[in-house]
Amino acid sequence: MAELESLEFGKSDFILLDEVTMEQFMENLKLRFEKGRIYTFIGEVVVSVNPYRQMDIYGTDTIDAYRGRELYENPPHLYSVSDAAYKAMKRRAKDTCIVISGESGAGKTEASKYIMQYIAAITNPSMREEVERVKNVLLKSNCVLEAFGNAKTNRNDNSSRFGKYMDVNFNFNGDPTGGHINNYLLEKSRVIQQQPGERNFHSFYQVKNYYCIFTWKHVSFLWICKSSLCVLMNEHLCLCVQGNLQFESEAESVFVSTPEFLVHISALTHTDPGSLRTSLLCRTVATGGGDVIQKEHSEQEASFGRDAFAKALYERLFAWIVGRINSIIEVKNYNPVLHGKNTVIGVLDIYGFEIFENNSFEQFCINYCNEKLQHLFIELILQQEQEEYEREGIVWEHIDYCDNQIIVDLVEQQHRGIISILDEACLNVGQVTDTICLQSMDNKLSQHPHYMSRQLNPSDKSLEFQKHFRIQHYAGEVTYSIEGFLDKNKDPLFQDFKRLMFNSSNAVLQQMWPDGQMSITEVTKRPQTAATLFKNSIIALVDKLACKEPYYVRCIKPNELKSSVIFDDARCRHQVAYLGLLENVMVRRAGFAYRQPYERFLQRYKMTCEYTWPNHLMSNDREAVKAIVSQHGFDQDVEYGRTKLFVRSPRSLFSLEQERNQL
Ligand code: ATP
Ligand code: MG
Repeated sequence: MAELESLEFGKSDFILLDEVTMEQFMENLKLRFEKGRIYTFIGEVVVSVNPYRQMDIYGTDTIDAYRGRELYENPPHLYSVSDAAYKAMKRRAKDTCIVISGESGAGKTEASKYIMQYIAAITNPSMREEVERVKNVLLKSNCVLEAFGNAKTNRNDNSSRFGKYMDVNFNFNGDPTGGHINNYLLEKSRVIQQQPGERNFHSFYQVKNYYCIFTWKHVSFLWICKSSLCVLMNEHLCLCVQGNLQFESEAESVFVSTPEFLVHISALTHTDPGSLRTSLLCRTVATGGGDVIQKEHSEQEASFGRDAFAKALYERLFAWIVGRINSIIEVKNYNPVLHGKNTVIGVLDIYGFEIFENNSFEQFCINYCNEKLQHLFIELILQQEQEEYEREGIVWEHIDYCDNQIIVDLVEQQHRGIISILDEACLNVGQVTDTICLQSMDNKLSQHPHYMSRQLNPSDKSLEFQKHFRIQHYAGEVTYSIEGFLDKNKDPLFQDFKRLMFNSSNAVLQQMWPDGQMSITEVTKRPQTAATLFKNSIIALVDKLACKEPYYVRCIKPNELKSSVIFDDARCRHQVAYLGLLENVMVRRAGFAYRQPYERFLQRYKMTCEYTWPNHLMSNDREAVKAIVSQHGFDQDVEYGRTKLFVRSPRSLFSLEQERNQL
């Protein structure tokens, strides 16, 4: 049982701290890390510290020890939450989700892999072929996505540059029948530019060796036809070549100064070299009078167009890969009447909160996403918990937690939020600069308690006029540079490129560019901006999560040096603070580890008490439950709600469980 584990390793559940203070929390976290105990509970939440070394705790023995057990029977582990989520799904037919959060390098992706491996290991005991196929694809798809969506950054050698949410579907037996992956905001700018010390996506280095991909066993299952494989490699080569494509201008006219690369690219994209050249040098525009004309680019516009094209090529390739995986794992021939309810476990591995030296549009989006997830966490865990106590008439200490709805609104509110202001600025083509947009934000948000800029507070010399704004996020203050916000939000790609690719003689490529069919007059003048698209995808994600029973893994990065022995106090303390872990402990402590409706409790434990077994001698279920609790001597550890029994420590329940098993 978790809490009886030797105290030499610290407390295995933060709920058991003598006092809930930051000091005690940190002391326990550090002690456990140093003793190689990288997981600790807060009730059902698992806090994980990246060990930065291989741990011998993921083998089949461990899996067997966790399979089907209650949370409090084993030391904390990713397998505890995985099993809890799986049990809820299988026994109670609940859709569940496991939300993994933490900053870059904290261990989210590794955790998601262990969770998937656990689920794969405990399902399909009869080794049905179709289920094995699905499991195989689910597990291997990870390697493919990592190759194309991960890169070495200064924070993590294998950093996910996209957010990932994966649903796994189960049949009534609790065996996986399929799945679906959603990806969020791939960092496509990495294709054309990387920070010093960072690299392009892994795939660029792997594809360099043409033949290695044929022996690349994880990928091969995806590329059933060879032509897809060629597309994949050609696109990478094309992107590598594209960087060499240069423009020069002479007498007001722009031309490609490195035409040899033009030929390469047209061959690799299966497009006509003449059309490619035209797409790079001009854009088609519809005049007010309804005419369609060709307008020549300036040198700068041509370079901008080339980069946008390169980014879009990679983004669409990535989306296509995700689509292929989805088509392979989608649930087929599922008949709810025949097969019972189809239940789901979702696993979310998404970028954590980011505060860099220079924070731009990408950090703005990522941090907004984290505000949304934090809000969901607050709603689901803290708010719901407190509301339930109120409903049940249980007396408890009120916990003041930080409700970040106000920050979410600052970003996403219609008309007044930052995204709306950005979008409005993007509509005024050509006239509005980043600086003007910042002024507009200053005007509209001057009263907002979480928004600040130099114009609003001239004494704050850390902010530059015309450049910076600051948001007080739940996780800390972040100063953003407005530079580039409008371009990144507009994310324009000339229709000419889309049409070019739609006309590619390669069917797979053509398939990636269906919007290339539209003529310039049909193209909507107000395409959705990057921020709005992202906002909508995150709102949809939150909706998906909100209707599931949530389980949480909160990952902490112990140091910046990828060291297995350093516990950087200040860095860890900061993460504990912004993940809201202390508040989480307080609520759980004020609260109860376990609760159950009287009827269900009685059903399970009536045989352990003479007043309820063999005959129910009490006036009602609540009184009967009281009799059971009294007989086992843990009256001090419970509260009686209107409809449910609340038990503070899992220990009481565990002894009851043992007695039940011995009967
Ligand atoms: P990002 O947001 O950048 O994608 P992340 O939170 O997904 O970061 P991971 O890629 O999961 O971080 O972990 C970073 C590295 O830390 C891994 O490549 C691995 O070396 C190490 N690591 C993480 N978790 C574990 C673990 N449980 N056991 C051993 N090493 C680990
Ligand atoms: Mg990752």
